[in-house]
Amino acid sequence: MTNCKDCGEKLSFLSTITGGVLCANCKNIYESKLSKAEEEILLRKKVTTQQLELLQNQKKKELIDLYFRIFNHFEADSEFDKAEIETLEKIQESLNLTNGDVKFDEYLRPHTYIYSTREENKLPIIDGLNIHGASPVILKKGEIIHYADSAVLKEMRSISLGYEGGSHGVSFTIMKGVRYHVGSHKGHIKRETKLVETSRGVLIITNKRILLHPSPRSKPISIPLNKVLSYNCFKNGIEIYKDGREKGYFFVIDKSGSIEIFGICLSYLLGQRAE
Ligand SMILES: [Zn+2]
Repeated sequence: MTNCKDCGEKLSFLSTITGGVLCANCKNIYESKLSKAEEEILLRKKVTTQQLELLQNQKKKELIDLYFRIFNHFEADSEFDKAEIETLEKIQESLNLTNGDVKFDEYLRPHTYIYSTREENKLPIIDGLNIHGASPVILKKGEIIHYADSAVLKEMRSISLGYEGGSHGVSFTIMKGVRYHVGSHKGHIKRETKLVETSRGVLIITNKRILLHPSPRSKPISIPLNKVLSYNCFKNGIEIYKDGREKGYFFVIDKSGSIEIFGICLSYLLGQRAE
């Protein structure tokens, strides 16, 4: 027989089979404490140790749901302020939620970059970037990394699509024993300009340049910030034009939050802050 974790009363058959550890009465009390804690977190933009201890007792899925309810509420009013960012980071850390659980890179991280540039007039710094399976990134003197994420470089290339309009030739007999051959011709080569993958690796933005740290057997790319003519952010990546080079570089990035962050960094570093 199992007893209620809080009051020690014998648990009903129903609460035992549904995996409960609290009796109906204590469960109600616990749930009202939970919703009160959540209300206070939203109101005060602050989370206390007692609140965290209370929240901890829930299943991971419930914790993730709670995180996103708070995230959405904070996001609804306007840009995130420092208290909101810190509260979410504290909740994530104290409740042992991973960056993957809360989709940190996609959701909260871009807000930390917006906050830093707007309120602190600086960009976050990434220390000790460690790229699994790649050689270390060699930085120049005084160079600091602001962001990095994996990317595939695509460039416009003229590619052959083979021959078009060719024929194999036909031959027919004009008179017995004489075959007349209408020669084959190859037509013309059809070409098309297309974005093709030319490298891949980790795209890094520093205070001095944009750098593609290549995967093995891929080519590195380094674009000093003072050579950036223009850039465009798209849903699937960033296009960068470099001074002295007709064709642009298109870096395909599959995380939407990362594209935003690269855009925020570029805009800040190139002094084009949209106010
Ligand atoms: Zn009880």
